[in-house]
Amino acid sequence: MQKTIQEILEFRKERGWHLNQDARALAISISLEANELLEPFQWKTGEEATATYHQAIKEELADVFIYLVALADHMDIDLQQAVSEKLAKNLIKYPVPEK
Ligand SMILES: [Mg+2]
Repeated sequence: MQKTIQEILEFRKERGWHLNQDARALAISISLEANELLEPFQWKTGEEATATYHQAIKEELADVFIYLVALADHMDIDLQQAVSEKLAKNLIKYPVPEK
């Protein structure tokens, strides 16, 4: 995961994108890409959409992840640590049901 994050940050740095995209623009971009993820599902069942638009869905997932990494980097947030911390909170909030 760290290698992928570094590849994303390097890609952005080489193009100077890290200099002119602020937190607001990056947050908006996350939302826009998440909405692009919805498009293959419009007027289809989940099964139809995933069977028909697998590649498009994969690319939109990547777009969302790229902007997540960019915003986290912009705000000096360690995304992996943030996920770990959130999962720890969720573990308390949503304990595994007893069987
Ligand atoms: Mg996209």
